[in-house]
Amino acid sequence: MDGYMKVVRFTGKGGILVTEKPVPSPGTGELLVKIDWCGLCGSERAALENGVAVVPGHESAGTVAACGDGANALPVGSRVVIYLSEYCRCCEACREGDTNRCTRRGRLMGWHMDGGFAEYVLAPMHMVYPIGELPTDLGVLALDTLGTAFHALRQAEPGSRERVLIIGCGPIGLGCIPILRHFYGIGQIFAADPSSARLKLAEGLGAQPIPVDPEDTSGSIGKVLGETRVDIVLEVCGLEATTAAAVKYVKAGGKVVYIGEPKKALHIQRESEWILKDFSLINSWYFPVREIQENLAFIRAQRGEIMGLITHRYGFDRMGEAYDAFFGGRTGKVLIGPRWEGRA
Ligand SMILES: [Zn+2]
Ligand SMILES: [Zn+2]
Repeated sequence: MDGYMKVVRFTGKGGILVTEKPVPSPGTGELLVKIDWCGLCGSERAALENGVAVVPGHESAGTVAACGDGANALPVGSRVVIYLSEYCRCCEACREGDTNRCTRRGRLMGWHMDGGFAEYVLAPMHMVYPIGELPTDLGVLALDTLGTAFHALRQAEPGSRERVLIIGCGPIGLGCIPILRHFYGIGQIFAADPSSARLKLAEGLGAQPIPVDPEDTSGSIGKVLGETRVDIVLEVCGLEATTAAAVKYVKAGGKVVYIGEPKKALHIQRESEWILKDFSLINSWYFPVREIQENLAFIRAQRGEIMGLITHRYGFDRMGEAYDAFFGGRTGKVLIGPRWEGRA
């Protein structure tokens, strides 16, 4: 695999540069993956602002292009996805398959090692997962979008008669809806967000939309919920106002599941809503590899509906536009394809 490949760099202050790098060759235990698609992620906001020392992108899917020594388990041409974190494989958590809880976590793809906004990427063999015949665009959704959503919900263990409120309808919040409906059999799902485009997607997936005025998050939700309180609130924003709303609208004995990544310190006032109520607070980060097979089976079974989560596709040359649309709340999941030249 000689020659050069196109890669993207975040140069800081929102700068996105498309440049070239030699195509790397896989060392012992490594695979070279030819990238078909890599997803945009809300977690990249700070990376865009501050710049990253490596090639960004951590939600990639493609095909095995070359195998290093001792990395022959997946033949060239296999469709694969790449897991975010380099887990140690020997700590107690890893031995249980809880790889997202690894206590000796190594590098994160796209943050500390070159990631998927490139034509090719190298990854240690144990971070590369086969997806069988599943198309690689749906493979991307098996990572952050549905993988993270699924893990959060497995921790919350929803019952089929429970009510769920989702605060934040980015790709992960939206991804929770089909899982709640088809995997857990839940009928009553409320989805709150300021973006009308995202609410439309949520409604299409079967949730009751709640338009949010960001100046009055709790009040906006109250206009729809009234006195109703829900069994589970999924906080998928990471803001102070949405956290307060999550605590307000969970019923006594219910669960608040925290998936959002706060962009700055959250100052939480334990006011009466919080003090005078039993509830559990569950934090959820990414997902363990042992859940991947069941997640892939779900995606295969619900592929028509799940494909609808992907609303936009761009090539490297239009990534600035892609982030504007994504951060502006005008999209569902956005995929970047190194060889994609079509319109969004
Ligand atoms: Zn992500
Ligand atoms: Zn470990």
